[in-house]
Amino acid sequence: MSISIYRGTVVYAAERDKLAAFPGANILVEDGFVKNVLKNLPEELAELPVQDYGNALIIPAFSDLHIHASQYAQRGIGMDKLLFDWLMDYTFPQETKFADLSYAKMVYDTLVADLIRHGTFHASIFTTIHYEASDYLFEKLAERGLYAYTGVVNMDCNSPEYLCETTENSLRNTERFLREHQGARTVQPILTPRFAPTCSETLIQGLGKLAKKYACGVQTHLVESIAEAAWTKDLFPGYRCEAAIYEQAGLLEYGPSVFAHVIFPTGEDIEILKKTKSISVHCPDATANIIAGIMPADALGKRELPIALGTDIGAGPGTAVYRQVSRAVQLSKLKAFFQPEGNGQLSFARAFYMATKEGGSIFDRVGSLEPGYRFNALVLDGLEDDFSPLTPEEKLERFCYGGDDRNIVARYLDGKLINP
Ligand SMILES: [Zn+2]
Repeated sequence: MSISIYRGTVVYAAERDKLAAFPGANILVEDGFVKNVLKNLPEELAELPVQDYGNALIIPAFSDLHIHASQYAQRGIGMDKLLFDWLMDYTFPQETKFADLSYAKMVYDTLVADLIRHGTFHASIFTTIHYEASDYLFEKLAERGLYAYTGVVNMDCNSPEYLCETTENSLRNTERFLREHQGARTVQPILTPRFAPTCSETLIQGLGKLAKKYACGVQTHLVESIAEAAWTKDLFPGYRCEAAIYEQAGLLEYGPSVFAHVIFPTGEDIEILKKTKSISVHCPDATANIIAGIMPADALGKRELPIALGTDIGAGPGTAVYRQVSRAVQLSKLKAFFQPEGNGQLSFARAFYMATKEGGSIFDRVGSLEPGYRFNALVLDGLEDDFSPLTPEEKLERFCYGGDDRNIVARYLDGKLINP
C-alpha cells in the first residue's frame, strides 16, 4: 500500500450545478485512488512527505467523449464549410491517408501527446476504416495508460468509393478488432458506425449481433444536422426515429452508448436515450464551426439525459476540453436568447461537471476527486493577478475561458506523475 499526500486547493464537481472547493486541503491518495480530502492531517500521517502545490488548484482530469483521431491532422481547416462539403472536401480525402501506417503513427503519436498535454485522460475516439492504424492507436492509448474507448469505423454506403467498404469486410474488420482487443485494460473496443447514412441496414444489424457476442457498446453521431436527420429518415423509412435504428439492432444494450451532437432529437429519440442510459455528447466548437446547430443542452438536462462534452476534432479546432466548458456556457446563452422557449443557459459548474464527472461516468471511477475516485488529476497555476485575488471557483472559470496548457503544471494518472 502506498500513500501520497498533495496539498493545494482541491476543486471538483460532485453534482450537476455545484462546485466543491477546499482551499488549503490535503488530498490523500492510496494506491492511485483518492482516500480523503482533509483540512488537517491526522497525527499518524504527519511524518509523511507532502507535495505542496501552495495556492494552485487540484482538479480532476478531463473526459472528451467525441474525437476523430484521424482528423487531428486537419484541425482548424475548412471551418467556413457546412458538414457535407467539409466531409467531401477535407475529411474523407484526409482519412484515406490512414491506409499508410507510417502516416497514422505520426498523427496518432502527436494526438495522444496533445491529449495528455491538455489534461484529457479519458476519451471516446473514432479512428477510420483502416485496421492497422486503428490497432496502433488502441495500443498507443493503452501504453500511455489513458482511459479510452476506440473503434474501427464502419461505412458501407453513401461514401466516396475510396472509403467505402463492403458490408462483409466491414463486419469482418470490426469483429477482428473486438476479438483482438478484449481484456481488462484501460482501453476498450467500441462499435463505431460512422453515422446512419453511411451504414446499410444490414451492416447495422450485423453490428448489433457483434454487440451481443462481445458485450460491447457503440459510439456514433445522432441527429447532428437538419440535412443529416432528413437524409436518415429517407434512408431508414421503417424506423420511428434515428435512435430506433440502433436500438432495434440491439446496439444499445451492453453499454456504453455514446451519441455525438444530438442537436435535433425528437421526443422518441429522447425516450430511447433515457431508457438505454445513453450519453449524449455536446461539442460546442464543432457544431458552431461545421454543423450550424446548438444542442439544447439545458433542455435535455432537464429531461435527465446525461451529457458529456467533446472536442470533435477536427470539426473542433483543438484538444482542450476545458475550452469546450466555456463554449458550452456561451452557446447555451445564445440558444436561450434566440430560442427562449424551453431553453435556459448552463451554469459554469454544470458545464465543468459535463467535462469531468458526467463524461467520466462511462469509465471506471474517474472524473471527480471524491473519495474512491482515481487520482487522475491536474494541477493548475498562474491564474490570478497579484493585484486581484480570485476564489477557487473563479480561478477555474478563468482557466476554462482563457487559460491553456501552460497553466497545467502537473498531471497525475492513476496517482502517477505523467508528462506529454
Ligand atoms: Zn464527429
